[in-house]
Amino acid sequence: MKVIIIGGVAGGASCAARLRRLDEQAEILMVERGPYVSYANCGLPYHVGGVIEKESSLLVADANTFRSQFAVDVRTGCEAIKISPDEKTVELRNVETGEVTTEAYDKLVLSPGAASIRPPLPGIDLPGIFQVRTVPDARAIREWIERGSLFLTGMDKYSGFQTVKPKIRAVVIGGGFIGLETAENLVHRGFDVTLVEMLDQVLAPLDREMACIVEGFVERHGIRLALKDGVAGFQQTSNGSLEVLTKSGKAHPADIVILALGVRPDTTLARAAGIEIGTRGGIRVDDQMRTSKPDIFAVGDAVEVKDFVTGEWSLIALAGPANRQGRIAADVIAGRDSHFRGTQGTSIIGLFGAAAAWVGASEKTLKRIGDADYEKIYLYPNSHAGYYPGAKPIALKVLFRKSDGHLLGAQAVGEDGVDKRISTLAMALQMNATIYDLEEAELCYAPQFGSAKDPVNFAGMVAADILRGDMPLVHWDATDGGFLLDVRQPVELAVEQKPGAVNIPLGQLRSRLDELPRDREIFVICRSGQRAYYATRILLQHGFKANIISGGMLALALNCLLKRDSGA
Ligand SMILES: Cc1cc2nc3c(=O)[nH]c(=O)nc-3n(C[C@H](O)[C@H](O)[C@H](O)COP(=O)(O)OP(=O)(O)OC[C@H]3O[C@@H](n4cnc5c(N)ncnc54)[C@H](O)[C@@H]3O)c2cc1C
Repeated sequence: MKVIIIGGVAGGASCAARLRRLDEQAEILMVERGPYVSYANCGLPYHVGGVIEKESSLLVADANTFRSQFAVDVRTGCEAIKISPDEKTVELRNVETGEVTTEAYDKLVLSPGAASIRPPLPGIDLPGIFQVRTVPDARAIREWIERGSLFLTGMDKYSGFQTVKPKIRAVVIGGGFIGLETAENLVHRGFDVTLVEMLDQVLAPLDREMACIVEGFVERHGIRLALKDGVAGFQQTSNGSLEVLTKSGKAHPADIVILALGVRPDTTLARAAGIEIGTRGGIRVDDQMRTSKPDIFAVGDAVEVKDFVTGEWSLIALAGPANRQGRIAADVIAGRDSHFRGTQGTSIIGLFGAAAAWVGASEKTLKRIGDADYEKIYLYPNSHAGYYPGAKPIALKVLFRKSDGHLLGAQAVGEDGVDKRISTLAMALQMNATIYDLEEAELCYAPQFGSAKDPVNFAGMVAADILRGDMPLVHWDATDGGFLLDVRQPVELAVEQKPGAVNIPLGQLRSRLDELPRDREIFVICRSGQRAYYATRILLQHGFKANIISGGMLALALNCLLKRDSGA
């Protein structure tokens, strides 16, 4: 059996290595247009920033490793230019010489990835405008920076008076994870960084109020955000630097511009071969990674797959799914019955020592598809036991089915412990867990790692209290007409107050119940929700119509920010 794999990075390389482990006899040819196979493109922003100093560190396994360890015929600098599904052949072009050869296959695997979006804007090809997609892209940025720095170092020595070295101005376009990671790395290099984003938030998969936390955090660390503004073009100034022109009429000065406008599936070859393309613009595959053409498989960023929660077709440009899909294609080619379970979109981004992570459906996705059978909670548990040094709050939003408690999605932002909570919730989601399962999850605990009630347990307990009716819950947007009861300490009100709320500290509540109305809904707040929960339980057991306001003052702060941003 001869198997040709097009694309030699995440999906392609996984497929080749797995196939060899399953089939010693298969003839495997892996072609890669670029100079490297199996490199860590996820590390590229950190190479730009100098955190990963050596380019060689990004090369996970080179072509020789594939040749010697896996007996794979690897051809770099070799582009597949045509697939003929009826003849079962592929035309290959040597990138350097232009020579074209034809190879026959029994099975073909496409893993061509996704192409960076590069709109035909005026000036987009000017020098100083880069993207971060490949090792040569990162090298070009580093070389440019080094050249620019040399020039500025010269300026330092220019005169006895000129002692302040001007900052290099970088404009990053796109607030997705590649744009933000690159922006962070440029801040680390001492650049003055502006990030321009067309949407009203960074990190589009996050719900707006969670993205808001990230925005505040990165702004405090030196990234200037220009949201709700699309790029209109680029121009060179008389001194040779650049200006990024936006649709709102602004001109952001720049010495370097990074384009991170997202990616779109590379379907050029597949389309030309008559392979079905799906509604989202990716190669349509079944759950065994088979395309519409016999003996042709496709994996990775180029394919569209079913969303695990919504069942919708979706595009997901992530390394984990690409690797797993490459492995599944290899399994199926080798005669095994492996299936892709769908994507949960489990993602994380690290920024200035903090992290934002998410899994499953967001609230905006549920709203978009008209799914109203969900409830959400906000909580702010500590990353580990509060009495052990270094605990940090995690802002956690969890979405679950109102009707049966099934977990639907989660988002978390914080400076510690975000990754393991979202990874735990991702596993729970894939196992179709409910919030009742989260209550019962037995997770590891010692003071420096977690709490006896881990944030994951805690989320389950809060959500289960709501579904069991122990904790009637409202959100800030549904509190009009109610009696607002604030159970925080008076000293806290000096820092932030909710106008119109009556303050009875939790410790005094039992003795001051006669101050509360019995004929009105009472909405209880504290800072994050915990004391409001205790108060709500007291009030309910004394016959009051009490509800807790989800997320308390912390959630209100985000609500206010959103309203301010939208001009409401
Ligand atoms: C800067 C950056 C940071 C990222 N960070 C993360 C992260 O932190 N976490 C995460 O989960 N994901 C991350 N990703 C996404 C992740 O890298 C991709 O989802 C994954 O690499 C997709 O694998 P793939 O095999 O589909 O495509 P790729 O890994 O992109 O490989 C496709 C390869 O196919 C080659 N090719 C295309 N057409 C042809 C042809 N006709 N002939 C020959 N070769 C061809 C291309 O040259 C390319 O090398 C990041 C991506 C980038 C660019």
